[in-house]
Amino acid sequence: MHTFEFIRPADTAAAVAAAAQAKTAQQGADVRFVAGGTTLIDLMKLNVETPARLIDINRLALDKIEATPNGGLMIGATVRNSDLARHPTAQRDYAVLSQAILNGASAQLRNMATTAGNLLQRTRCMYFRDAAMPCNKREPGTGCPAITGSNRMLAVFGTSEHCIATNPSDMCVAMAALEATIHIQGLKGARVIPIGDFHLLPGNTPHQETSLEPGDLITHVTLPPPIAGSKQLYLKLRDRASYEFALASAAVVINAAGGKVTRARIALGGVGTKPWRSHEAEAALAGQPANDASFRKAAEAALRGAKPQSENKFKIELAKRCLTHALKMALTA
Ligand SMILES: Cc1cc2nc3c(=O)[nH]c(=O)nc-3n(C[C@H](O)[C@H](O)[C@H](O)COP(=O)(O)OP(=O)(O)OC[C@H]3O[C@@H](n4cnc5c(N)ncnc54)[C@H](O)[C@@H]3O)c2cc1C
Ligand code: SF4
Repeated sequence: MHTFEFIRPADTAAAVAAAAQAKTAQQGADVRFVAGGTTLIDLMKLNVETPARLIDINRLALDKIEATPNGGLMIGATVRNSDLARHPTAQRDYAVLSQAILNGASAQLRNMATTAGNLLQRTRCMYFRDAAMPCNKREPGTGCPAITGSNRMLAVFGTSEHCIATNPSDMCVAMAALEATIHIQGLKGARVIPIGDFHLLPGNTPHQETSLEPGDLITHVTLPPPIAGSKQLYLKLRDRASYEFALASAAVVINAAGGKVTRARIALGGVGTKPWRSHEAEAALAGQPANDASFRKAAEAALRGAKPQSENKFKIELAKRCLTHALKMALTA
């Protein structure tokens, strides 16, 4: 691994000032925050990431989970994934989030991984993780070997001719269905970004993965007040039962009354270049009978427009079945 400088700022202002010296924003930048290190150090060992300076944010006061004045939940940037998943409020009011986190990685990794680090984890595309291969995301302009190569795990939504990499996070899929908000401290002050606008589609610039700017520190994430009477479920389908990324997953937050769906928030994982909120499935369910036929129609709506690659056409039917089953399980649990 290359040599780098390691600093421990005293407060968030010092951390932001240090990170603002980066030439580019977070992903791939030469100055980086480090939290659990389970993404960044991993990629540094592979020479995929080569920052000159690491800013350790673990001593900043960003590790609390607290109720917000409006009845929602505030989750600090360095809250460990395990602590969030096991928090009583998360388990009671935001079960889809707790389930999604517990479906990810391994217990040891979740003990280190943080809220902000999870939001910024990078794709598992094998070409991206191999510094000897060309990759537009790692080295803009070098090409995308996945398009004609190994793409079984990659995306069917949000792709471009420059990159088809999947966003691998489980937590973010649940946060998309819960309509979370990301809170950022930057050089120009504090600002908020809805999770739907936080991750960017690859387009012509696959190396730009989020709307963060140089120096931006994620301080916390907020969840809106829980939806009374909602049923929540995260269903993840993968090649083996643990320690594996999703081929397809579904996060469901749904209400029904009198046998009809009154509200639904749905997001899909494992299929998109970003956590994939499905407004189409939500619209297809609104006011419909809460039965298998409606669930399948919603799944058809969710996958309409999916663009398969040479090896991952199976994901389209898999994701449909995943969402259909998740809706049924949520409402019958
Ligand atoms: C073997 C393995 C299996 C895994 N399986 C899964 C899985 O099944 N599902 C899943 O969802 N995830 C999985 N993961 C990914 C794991 O969830 C992430 O590695 C973890 O969440 C990253 O958090 P971290 O705190 O360790 O991030 P770090 O590695 O510390 O940081 C990651 C990125 O976030 C930036 N960053 C960190 N904190 C901040 C902040 N406050 N503000 C701005 N930028 C910040 C860093 O600069 C870096 O770019 C797996 C990881 C491994 C290694
Ligand atoms: S899919 Fe994206 S990450 Fe993978 S090789 Fe192509 S450009 Fe790189």
